[in-house]
Amino acid sequence: MSTTALSVAQTPTPTDAARRAEILAAPGFGVHFTDHMALIEWTPERGWYDGRVQAYGPLSIDPATAVLHYAQEIFEGMKAYGHDDGSTWLFRPDANAARFQRSARRLALPELPPDTFLEAIETLVRTDAAWVPHGGETSLYVRPFMFASEVFLGVRPARHVTFCVIASPAGAYFPGGVRPVSIWLSQDYTRAAPGGTGAAKCGGNYAASLLAQQEAAANGCDQVAFLDAVDRTWVEELGGMNLYFVHADGTVVTPELTGSILEGVTRDSVLTLLDDSGHKVEERRFGIDEWRSGVSSGDITEVFACGTAAVLTPVGRLAWPGGEVRCGDGISTGPVTAATRFALLEIQYGRRADRYGWMRRVRASSQ
Ligand SMILES: *Cc1c(COP(=O)(O)O)cnc(C)c1O
Repeated sequence: MSTTALSVAQTPTPTDAARRAEILAAPGFGVHFTDHMALIEWTPERGWYDGRVQAYGPLSIDPATAVLHYAQEIFEGMKAYGHDDGSTWLFRPDANAARFQRSARRLALPELPPDTFLEAIETLVRTDAAWVPHGGETSLYVRPFMFASEVFLGVRPARHVTFCVIASPAGAYFPGGVRPVSIWLSQDYTRAAPGGTGAAKCGGNYAASLLAQQEAAANGCDQVAFLDAVDRTWVEELGGMNLYFVHADGTVVTPELTGSILEGVTRDSVLTLLDDSGHKVEERRFGIDEWRSGVSSGDITEVFACGTAAVLTPVGRLAWPGGEVRCGDGISTGPVTAATRFALLEIQYGRRADRYGWMRRVRASSQ
């Protein structure tokens, strides 16, 4: 595309206002979608073309479409926040745009220019502004993704690629208030290996984590934690969230980015917030025995996981075959976790000055 503008064709059959209000009153997560979607096509000859916002609906996919066979696909996840004055904002979308380019490189997909990525998201959010929920920790979850849409069974990077953005109203992750989650330590499965795709946000990583997640659930746990694939010693992350360990002396540790850990935007933002609130923050290798013994001895006072969907989630229990350690009373959220979670939400919902230039306004209140 010579310009980043997308054409907008309004759907002839928008959801009626009463039904939309009903959905926004109890949106859940990932079950309801807005009236429109954004699409851009790519071929090596034409580059990016046919950028458009059109009615939300099924994509017609030939059974031989490459993504269905070889999983050449990446995605992103971010939220649009409705502020009290009626304006709509995104949180650090430039970080998602940059990560989307890194993911694309790893999956041999074309790199979408960040301006085009942002334009597609903002055009969709403006078109479907009536779908941004207000109140509590609600938001409009935005899901950009890109996939090999070429019809071809040969194994090579696709020569037709489709970029798409959909949006889904989301309720509070913890409708009944924040509750600590329990973590199952995977023994048999790893998520990512050196040289693999762990640092890329691709569907394949999630597909590979589902069996371990199923095992976690069968053992009464909410989430699964993965160790590194070589030494099976170093804590990496959960299936879709990064981890933090708060120590009694105020030091906070998060596993360093090794190439097999996904670089979370929330993880990065939490680093800044903790540093600014006077904590000593360390990014380093963190062993599973350090987790177990630290929690048992009281040297570690809080463990939390973080990601766009849940913001910050306290971890109350770590379990493995034949054992477990508990952190906290299993009900309450530790003070560092609670304060950091609150600080991040205050910025995202526009109730605290954005000292870091993280927020980007998509739509003014008067529009
Ligand atoms: C998306 C994701 C995260 C969290 O990233 P955020 O940008 O904070 O939402 C963490 N781990 C994995 C594996 C992910 O896919």
